[in-house]
Amino acid sequence: METISLGTDKLTNFIDGEWQEANETAAVVNPATGEEIVQVPLSDEGAVERAVKAAKKAQKEWALVPAPQRAEVLYQVGYLMKQRKERLSQLLTMENGKVLEEARGEVQEGIDMAFYMAGEGRRLFGHTTPAELKDKFAMSQRAPVGVVGIITPWNFPIAIATWKSFPAIVAGNAVIWKPATETPVMAYELAKIFEEAGLPKGIINVVFGSGSVVGDAMVHHPDIRVISFTGSNETGRNIAGECGRQLKKVSLEMGGKNAVIVMDDADLDLAVDGILWSAFGTSGQRCTACSRVIVHEKVKTDLEERLLAKMKDLTIGNGLDEKNKVGPIINKAGLDKIKQYIEIGKNEGAKLLAGGSPLEDEAYRGGHYFAPTLFTDATADMRISREEIFGPVVSLIPVNSLEEAIEANNQVEYGLSSSIFTRDVNRVFQAQRDLDTGIVYVNAGTTGAEIHLPFGGTKGTGNGHRDSGVQALDVFTEWKAVYVDYSGKLQRAQIDVD
Ligand code: NAP
Repeated sequence: METISLGTDKLTNFIDGEWQEANETAAVVNPATGEEIVQVPLSDEGAVERAVKAAKKAQKEWALVPAPQRAEVLYQVGYLMKQRKERLSQLLTMENGKVLEEARGEVQEGIDMAFYMAGEGRRLFGHTTPAELKDKFAMSQRAPVGVVGIITPWNFPIAIATWKSFPAIVAGNAVIWKPATETPVMAYELAKIFEEAGLPKGIINVVFGSGSVVGDAMVHHPDIRVISFTGSNETGRNIAGECGRQLKKVSLEMGGKNAVIVMDDADLDLAVDGILWSAFGTSGQRCTACSRVIVHEKVKTDLEERLLAKMKDLTIGNGLDEKNKVGPIINKAGLDKIKQYIEIGKNEGAKLLAGGSPLEDEAYRGGHYFAPTLFTDATADMRISREEIFGPVVSLIPVNSLEEAIEANNQVEYGLSSSIFTRDVNRVFQAQRDLDTGIVYVNAGTTGAEIHLPFGGTKGTGNGHRDSGVQALDVFTEWKAVYVDYSGKLQRAQIDVD
């Protein structure tokens, strides 16, 4: 395969339609090899200030452009992403490590989001509704909020940004985007696409830099009226605290501790495929990764054997080599955290059936690789069953009934995704009602969200908002109620109703 070249050794911010350098930079490293890909700006608060100034000015005009015309830019963005799908996918694999097949899937998600949100340019539905008085008309409509800030993580460097920026833009806002410093290449490529697609300058501004400087400046800036954040719970909670003080709208999508439930009547081969894909895809570094399998006691041994047999086929290595199914861990800190949880699991009394250590042979030199790991005989209250590990580690928790399985699923702080494998329709409907996550899959793993449905979680995963789906528009718009009285006299609503 011909290797794609990024075409620059230094990224620049994109502010007010101009490519601007920062004084300081840091190296972006390929997690599969340890090689430097490019230098990324470490911007200061001044860059955020310039971006907000440009965004404020540009947004006033953008809000007056009819939404179907705003949408034309998004269609163009979608076409350009489609043309460049292979380039984007390969660059994504280089900066993030996920295998190429998954990178292509992530880019496709962004393309789908572009066309879906472009369609919203001709909808952005409000309501018309009867008024309670004669000769009076009532409706509700969406209004843009103004300047919005989006802060994104490294594990989905392009898809998550499209879930947030596309609805914001079609709704008439201007955006300041701070991507994760670990994975800035997708942001640079997407900014170039926005520029080529003809988005007016100042409507999207990409400011690279650390969370503690650029992210913090965005959160504190009084003219950024929305923060849409995806990342860890710790960061999200701190952001929410500051936004609360400022009465700033904040949307949080955070961690998960997602479970697959396997009942005694399940198609076990199908369940195994679902578990492998959900637990070890992206090396377990998805917010929706399956890290618990809640299994009926009657099929536990059978499931263990089938999982162990199929885990042997997982080829691990550089994601650019299409024979590999599992890529590297993002960095050393991520690897160290996984190692710690293996020790925690062992000390808690879970039984290690496979994996449990980093891969350090010559073939893995330079990268950070961890063997797909299976624990069994875990209990729902162990730390490995409750805390987010963010690596290729899955624990089997035996139970004796559906009720027990649902209770175990719901026992965690998080509420992102859950899944059940069963052939019993009654169990399906009971489970989809009682599982307390924002996403429920039946006879599929815990990942595989489609962009036209709401994405997000309950409890510690979020704060009630959703990325993607038409629901994403709620984050980036205010509802406005409009009453038109054409009676020619003062009507005082409830007081004048007889
Ligand atoms: P993170 O450390 O919280 O970082 C996320 C983003 O926040 C990065 O851009 C980071 O910048 C920035 N940031 C850090 N400190 C900040 C601060 N004080 N103020 C403002 N911004 C700040 O999370 P991560 O490790 O990148 O991402 C993994 C987490 O994301 C996992 O918990 C995963 O479950 C979650 N996630 C959730 C979803 C979902 O939809 N629920 C989807 C994907 C991932 P720098 O990195 O540049 O410092």
